[in-house]
Amino acid sequence: MKKHNFSAGPCILPQEVFQEASQAVLDFNNSGLSILEISHRSKDFVNVMEEARSLSLELLGLKDKGYQALFLQGGASMEFLMVAYNLLEKKAAYLNTGTWAAKALKEAKLFGEVDVIASSEDKGFNYIPKNYKVPTDADYFHCTSNNTIYGTQMKKFPTSSIPLVCDMSSDIFSRQLDFSKFDLIYAGAQKNMGPAGTTLVIIKDGLLGKVSRKIPSMLDYKQHLDKDSMFNTPSVFPVYVSMLTLRWLKALGGIEVIEKENQKKATLLYSEIDINPLFKGYTAQEDRSIMNATFNLTNDSLKEEFDKMCKEAGINGINGHRSVGGYRASMYNALPLESVEVLVDVMSDLERKA
Ligand code: PMP
Repeated sequence: MKKHNFSAGPCILPQEVFQEASQAVLDFNNSGLSILEISHRSKDFVNVMEEARSLSLELLGLKDKGYQALFLQGGASMEFLMVAYNLLEKKAAYLNTGTWAAKALKEAKLFGEVDVIASSEDKGFNYIPKNYKVPTDADYFHCTSNNTIYGTQMKKFPTSSIPLVCDMSSDIFSRQLDFSKFDLIYAGAQKNMGPAGTTLVIIKDGLLGKVSRKIPSMLDYKQHLDKDSMFNTPSVFPVYVSMLTLRWLKALGGIEVIEKENQKKATLLYSEIDINPLFKGYTAQEDRSIMNATFNLTNDSLKEEFDKMCKEAGINGINGHRSVGGYRASMYNALPLESVEVLVDVMSDLERKA
């Protein structure tokens, strides 16, 4: 039986993408060769890379708007240090909204002064700080749009005179934003875009070249841009599967359409969390993520029963992150509404039984 997969990442991708990707492993484009055995310099793969780069800009509304896209390796964690390596000359400003933001700013401290302008650590990162001021004398401001572990999501982004850098790993392509506000966006593929193994980095023209340090080639965004994201062997298969997922999203109607679906799923689940006395949401209501919903049982003795019922219903991956506990249902783009209906039914069945 196919599971209802609420895993936080790597996570569910569209079934059609799994089908097409598995076919390409056997025979890519009727070439008599597997996607896994072709050269990354072959025309077929260069086309894949170019389509993936182009689709990612197009879906975000950044095509022909002075941005370029890269598919790099090393995960979003590599971007924590590459951002600072390439952009931090003296001082950078960071918003600390949880584990990933904290890891990003820790790396930045290796390269210069880091000003943590606001943090939600005082309440276990269950909200997004508001009313902070972005300094005008920093090289850039870094934030995390969606905090995968805690289930909080930034609904507003500051306008500022300094470059805006954002880790969008867990909500890219899920909601409409004015992406042209950002100077650099990065996202590990393994949530809304594809399998683990590649990271999308989007860079505004003119952002680079302002730091005085020497940058090793593999960590230098400019080198990757100059080589059209082919400085070295890219992650051929993850880029291919990402391209298929981006095609799937475009065919659906793009971010505008998927956002409505994502809203429906999130509204359904949060409504149940709010009306069912056996559950309690973890985060501040106004900062709730439409991607990752975090919640707890109000009576821990029901855990065994709830876990058993979830398992019987084919629900996978709703345990909270090991650092927070409780439950986390990740509802990425490819998760059907039906899966959320199944989870909500189990939650209300538990209430009836208890
Ligand atoms: N940022 C966010 C928001 C994440 O959710 C994650 C991991 N899930 C990371 C960064 C780190 O990504 P990676 O494991 O690809 O380095």
